[in-house]
Amino acid sequence: MLKRFIYLILIAIIGIIAVVLFNTFRFSGKIPVHQSLPLTGVGDSAALHLSKAIQIKTVSFGDTLPVDTAEFKKFRVFLETTYPTVHQKLPRLIFSEFSYVFIWKGKDTTLKPYVLMAHMDVVPVEAVAEKNWSVPSFSGMIKEDTIWGRGAVDDKASAISIFEAAELLLKENFQPERTIYLCFGHDEEIAGKRGAAKISAWFKEQKIEPELVVDEGGQVDTEHFKELKRPVAVIGVGEKGYVNIDITVEKTGGHSSMPQQETAIDILNKAIMHVREKQMSASIPAPIQELFTRIGPGGSFINRMALSNQWLFRGMLISQLEQTKETNALVHTTLVPTIVKAGIKDNVIPSVAKATFNSRILPGQTSDDVVDFVKKAIHDDRVTVQKQSISLMEPSAMTSSDHPMFKRMEAITYKTVPQVIVTPYLMIGATDSRYFRPFSSAVLNFAPMTNAKGFHGINERIPVSDLKQMIFYYRLLLTEK
Ligand SMILES: [Zn+2]
Repeated sequence: MLKRFIYLILIAIIGIIAVVLFNTFRFSGKIPVHQSLPLTGVGDSAALHLSKAIQIKTVSFGDTLPVDTAEFKKFRVFLETTYPTVHQKLPRLIFSEFSYVFIWKGKDTTLKPYVLMAHMDVVPVEAVAEKNWSVPSFSGMIKEDTIWGRGAVDDKASAISIFEAAELLLKENFQPERTIYLCFGHDEEIAGKRGAAKISAWFKEQKIEPELVVDEGGQVDTEHFKELKRPVAVIGVGEKGYVNIDITVEKTGGHSSMPQQETAIDILNKAIMHVREKQMSASIPAPIQELFTRIGPGGSFINRMALSNQWLFRGMLISQLEQTKETNALVHTTLVPTIVKAGIKDNVIPSVAKATFNSRILPGQTSDDVVDFVKKAIHDDRVTVQKQSISLMEPSAMTSSDHPMFKRMEAITYKTVPQVIVTPYLMIGATDSRYFRPFSSAVLNFAPMTNAKGFHGINERIPVSDLKQMIFYYRLLLTEK
């Protein structure tokens, strides 16, 4: 009897090994190489123009702070003088004073239009961080064939590239097949309520449903897929959701010389700790699954084995992805306290303590799931849990890689970046394009920067060669069918 049992177990093990090996060997092969084109029609003045754009401090400081009107006015004049043909030939709409839409009428107005977007505002540079920059942060210095400064990557490179491509094409008297809207927001870094939100509302009012919206987001990655020895273009096809959750404790305070055993701050502390101890359940979203399918065949034997046998190695794969903060964010809803408030005086125990968690919601989960998770984790009736509705965004719909617009973008990327492998991707941060997702056929987040560095951090910079690549890419987006 025992012998028979061992025999059956052995057969089962051999069977599993056979399936694993079969899947692994089937999941291999060379990822095709597509022919790229020489970068023509990109002009030489772009680097200087981006340098000038960086020097204008279009900083978004905070949601409730006033806009630095003088700098945004300067930026408008800069655009008008640098791109005169765009301003002469394309009607411009203005939203909330400093966000712009240019309308480039197509030959066939029955076709649904395209939207190319970029934002003109940048995040501030903290005074303490300034000394860590190797050039002054708003100098726009060009050295080592690279343009340096806040906004060089996020997102003035895209804004300038769109303008460069449009200016050159308009000088050539080019007219697109379908109407193209060039949209430039001025408050993306503080949620886009005055810019992109208003622009998208105008689109809805006019009943314009774009066939394709292209915005910042994905780039060309050369660091995370080293064993492929080829660049990988990750095209954002959807965004995680966004919700802030407030947790509040109210408890009678008193004099700090005679503290109770547990104060409002103590209870809040424990609540925060309990939320941070665990994560919500993991899953691998569809775009990341597809990323594995597309890049997997070029990987090592071990990686191919794990990726092609997820029925067996899923747990291992997820724990691998949980190792770094970037990849963890691809398989989990994240939750982190970003604001903690309590107390007004050093010798008074406060009667209210409050914390705000910022959460980025994975597709397949909702803001209500996040609230449930927080309540269960805290498990204390003295703590009230409430989601904020003002900035709430559930996870977006995904643009399928079978969508003709994804295929179009894929083909254009092959033409622009030599040797590139293209894959869909999930955006973990929010962009202005989220306002267009509910009524657009396809929304894709990508610009072909290969060696751009330091966005939102120190030494933000982009090589001139990347900028040329981007102009070429926008040129193809405007001209190719
Ligand atoms: Zn940005």
